[in-house]
Amino acid sequence: MTMPALFIGHGSPMNTLEENRFTAAWRRIGQALPRPAAVLVVSAHWYIRGAAVTAMAAPRTIHDFYGFPQELFAFRYPAPGSPALADRVRALLHPLATADDGWGIDHGAWSVLAHLFPAADIPVVQLSIDNRQSAQFHYETGARLAALRDEGVLILGSGNVVHNLGMLRWDAPDAAYDWALRFEQAVKDRLLRRDHAALVDWERLDAQTRLAVPTPEHYLPLLYCIATQQEDEPVSFPVEGIDRGSFSMLTVGIGAF
Ligand code: ZN
Repeated sequence: MTMPALFIGHGSPMNTLEENRFTAAWRRIGQALPRPAAVLVVSAHWYIRGAAVTAMAAPRTIHDFYGFPQELFAFRYPAPGSPALADRVRALLHPLATADDGWGIDHGAWSVLAHLFPAADIPVVQLSIDNRQSAQFHYETGARLAALRDEGVLILGSGNVVHNLGMLRWDAPDAAYDWALRFEQAVKDRLLRRDHAALVDWERLDAQTRLAVPTPEHYLPLLYCIATQQEDEPVSFPVEGIDRGSFSMLTVGIGAF
């Protein structure tokens, strides 16, 4: 069977420790999914020069943020890596991707994995997002990874389709700017029509895209997931809605689960 693919809006790193409607949904998704052989994560927080694949057997937990409680810095996600999957990804992307032994599992990955697979017993590999490349490149790179879904690998994009940190309203969890609601809706509309070209051309999705997506790294993981969608595969939104004004928490499921 073909493993579903998932894009998850990860939002605040505090979701790792909190019980809220987002984390409850992530736990339900983890229970509904077939058990993956491994997870390949494309995280907004590994946005670097070049395409790299984590190749270590025991990736470390990276705390790539500042100003959060000590509890969050103490969090560990001790899932194993998978040098075999890293090799497979590099073969599929040859000659683009290099093997990496310096990164690990970043908070874009573990804030979500902590709820999807709390036992941390499924191997995790990360693929970086090359910050020099176009949206079309990222979409095409995702398409080259589609075969992994038939090999039991869960492709997990972790970002946020709307992500404006500067305008975040920490004091107002239920707030939602009009432009944030509109951009999330525009993305959902195109997903439901399987209009991948419009999603690749994300800068034209709305007149105020610049507010919704001031920098592309949280949006781009979505393209890796949708690029693996077969013609007849359903798309679902197990989580939707805006958090604190300017984060879309939209989760996109590709394939039935
Ligand atoms: Zn983030």
